[in-house]
Amino acid sequence: MHIRACYNRTNYTGPVKIIVNFSQRPFCTNIGFIINKPAGYSREFPYEIEHFILGRDFEIRDLAGTITLARTSGGIRALVDFSGKIDGACGRCLEQFEMVLNPQFDQIYTFEKESLSEEEETVPADGYIDFEILLREYLLMEIPMNPLCRSDCKGLCSVCGQNLNEKLCVHQELEINKAAPDSRESKHPKTTTHSG
Ligand SMILES: [Zn+2]
Ligand SMILES: [Zn+2]
Repeated sequence: MHIRACYNRTNYTGPVKIIVNFSQRPFCTNIGFIINKPAGYSREFPYEIEHFILGRDFEIRDLAGTITLARTSGGIRALVDFSGKIDGACGRCLEQFEMVLNPQFDQIYTFEKESLSEEEETVPADGYIDFEILLREYLLMEIPMNPLCRSDCKGLCSVCGQNLNEKLCVHQELEINKAAPDSRESKHPKTTTHSG
């Protein structure tokens, strides 16, 4: 594998599918070009990466988006907007499915020696900002606590484990027959209550 576009080079001309290997750091951006620009100047860096491992442990596919660097009066503001796909397991049916993550965030970098607030970072002295770890964090935050393969996932039968999205098992058919009030064999009207 080789790299076809590198944001650390000045001859970059436009969106190109970026081919990376995992020793490369495609999110490491040389911010030297923006330091001498007036406040308000901004430049967009588009990304399109088929497959990448962020922070050496977080695998993602079809990672696409932009990092926009804007010169502010006291530093640089980075707006990061990405989408990517990971494999997840459904919290109900346990099936693997493709989850789309879409983190958007911004980060302020100041030229001050020390950052003025917790939201700010200082502009790194070496002139490079690597967004990889930040992007990884925000992608991880996008993963729901209880992901669902689809909003109406029917889950598994608690008795036999049948995936009820695929077909009903005998247990679920029994439940449905019990619950149906118009069933000819219904011996348990819905209104039955047991109190004490
Ligand atoms: Zn499911
Ligand atoms: Zn069952």
